[in-house]
Amino acid sequence: MKSIRTTCAYCGVGCGIAATVTGERAVSIAGDPDHPANEGQLCSKGTYLGETVGLEGRLLDPMIGERETEWNEALDLVAKRLKDTVEQHGPDSVAFYLSGQLLTEDYYVANKLAKGFIGTANVDTNSRLCMASAVAAHVRAFGEDVVPCTYDDLDSADLIILVGSNTAWCHPIVWRRIERARERRGAKLVVIDPRRTETAELADLHVQIAPDGDVPLFNALLRTMKHSGYVDEKYLRARCSVPEGFWDQLEDQPGIPQETFREFAAMVATNPRMVTLFSQGANQSAGGTDKGNAIINLHLSLGRINREGMGPFSITGQPNAMGGREVGGLSNMLACHLGFSEAERTDVARFWQAPALCSGPGLKAVDLFRAIDEGRIKFVWIMATNPAVSMPDAAFVREALRKCPTVVVSDVIADTDTALLADIRLPALGWGEKDGTVTNSERCISRQRALFPPPGSVRADWQIVCDVAARLGFGSAFAFQSTAEVFREYAAMTALAGEHGKLLDLTDWADCSEFEYAAMRPFRWGGAHPLKRRYPTPYGKARLVSVSSTPPAPAQPALPLRLNTGRYRDHWHTMTRTALSAKLSMHRREALVEVHPEDGATYGLEQSGLARVATARGEAIYRVSLTEAQRQGEIFVPMHWSDLTASSARTGLLVEPIVDPHSGQPAFKNVAASIAPVHPD
Ligand code: SF4
Repeated sequence: MKSIRTTCAYCGVGCGIAATVTGERAVSIAGDPDHPANEGQLCSKGTYLGETVGLEGRLLDPMIGERETEWNEALDLVAKRLKDTVEQHGPDSVAFYLSGQLLTEDYYVANKLAKGFIGTANVDTNSRLCMASAVAAHVRAFGEDVVPCTYDDLDSADLIILVGSNTAWCHPIVWRRIERARERRGAKLVVIDPRRTETAELADLHVQIAPDGDVPLFNALLRTMKHSGYVDEKYLRARCSVPEGFWDQLEDQPGIPQETFREFAAMVATNPRMVTLFSQGANQSAGGTDKGNAIINLHLSLGRINREGMGPFSITGQPNAMGGREVGGLSNMLACHLGFSEAERTDVARFWQAPALCSGPGLKAVDLFRAIDEGRIKFVWIMATNPAVSMPDAAFVREALRKCPTVVVSDVIADTDTALLADIRLPALGWGEKDGTVTNSERCISRQRALFPPPGSVRADWQIVCDVAARLGFGSAFAFQSTAEVFREYAAMTALAGEHGKLLDLTDWADCSEFEYAAMRPFRWGGAHPLKRRYPTPYGKARLVSVSSTPPAPAQPALPLRLNTGRYRDHWHTMTRTALSAKLSMHRREALVEVHPEDGATYGLEQSGLARVATARGEAIYRVSLTEAQRQGEIFVPMHWSDLTASSARTGLLVEPIVDPHSGQPAFKNVAASIAPVHPD
């Protein structure tokens, strides 16, 4: 039996898998020893992928309402509704909501159709919920959304700082790499997190900040480094621009005990080889972009970037969040890291031969669903994601979708909470059936390869988009016969990025043969340190950014607790896949609300009893876990459960739709809440 090299379906670590098909829908999974992201290792989710490839719950044929139909009827209807909507209400009455589960080729054609041919930039993605703040921080500091380091830098770091990341649970293979650096090199680990997570438990130093306490901490740290003479003035002069008054605005109150701050500052001062990983705890905030820039400011000021074992490193949640942003999956970008300047628009329109290139940025996720609710968007196509569960204020999103005249959902699962609200459901290939590429957190492009033939009449997402494009009269621009053809066009288009001073460059792949594409081995575009020679800004310098210690968020109601949300080790997003695995479901059988014991006593909660968590948006019920891992006054709940999993623990109902003003990323980590016991009759 032949082993097929592919890439894991879950997180942004992007581990390589060696899969051996052992039966009709059976596969044996092992880590790919040659993949640079994981070197043969896999976490529990990757290991048990084989338990999730059955056809239980699959959408196998298109459906119009509750009626199964043929592809032609479904595609004709999608195209007709789309065309009628544009004719009657204009291109901006149409939206696409995509997903980091899509492959780069899927993303590319959907973005091309919407932005180039329909003429709407209302193309956003669930990656908006995951790392949009890091993207905005990269663009502000570097001029382009470029991650300046790779996982290899962890191997040579002496100090690893984790900000808002329960890495041991959420990026387990990165965690093993950190553990290895600690064992082999004696690297020190600092974890900055309001919660004493499983990761924080194992750190050399846990810096337990208040929610949204990141910017004051990093500003105070940079101020201390400046006053102690650790700032690399030569690097700053040569490679960075510093805004006026930058040093004066750095506060001196880190928001943590002075003793902890001194210990942290001493570790930073004495360990030049330093990598700072940041993730959702930093990004999912009303001040998420500022947090990213506070971290980048520190690395730039100390000259700890673009060298081995150094750099600020945003790690993404989803398997292809990075690929999506490369091909323009965010509404505020075109493809290939290009923006909406006249020159960039002109070049993109010419490259695509686009008849209706959109004129400027579109709506970001929260605003996009608001526009649906207000009737400004009348046609939405949702691909491979479940916003009725995962969006903040999920009840609002549901209502908006109920009101929308046309909701198209293409997905693997027949009955997600979102698919059940669709007028038209289109069956899409899932992991193990799809073929294409993904880009992980360190810019490594890997192939996902098909292990099984398509079940039923299921089609690839990119094919479905092309089929609709042909019905709209755009057939020649969407006449792709394979994912290799799509990838070649995208790779050729990255030449435009270079012409506009960007670093993204895949032009070596523009003429690859079907065989070369099929045989593609993982590679990191830009190499180890793509910003080493120049920053892609007008003057070639990185930018320090003055950042505010107070997130610019609207006031929330005066409720006594702060609600934080996050992930469990063995579940993924809204559990549409991981709930299929008995082994993965055993780790956490139900959703817990974690509460400090003192708060438990205050609010009359019992260990393992039930509690109702309420916010201004809604309420949900969880089993209580009293734990000193929570700070007093703060509670934590998981994001995964939904109606599909027959649970009342629907966290999306609780979260306020407050967003970061720069990135549009919602703030999932700091919601005003209350809690009360539930006594079953
Ligand atoms: Fe998959 Fe992420 Fe686990 Fe790697 S770390 S096996 S990519 S879930």
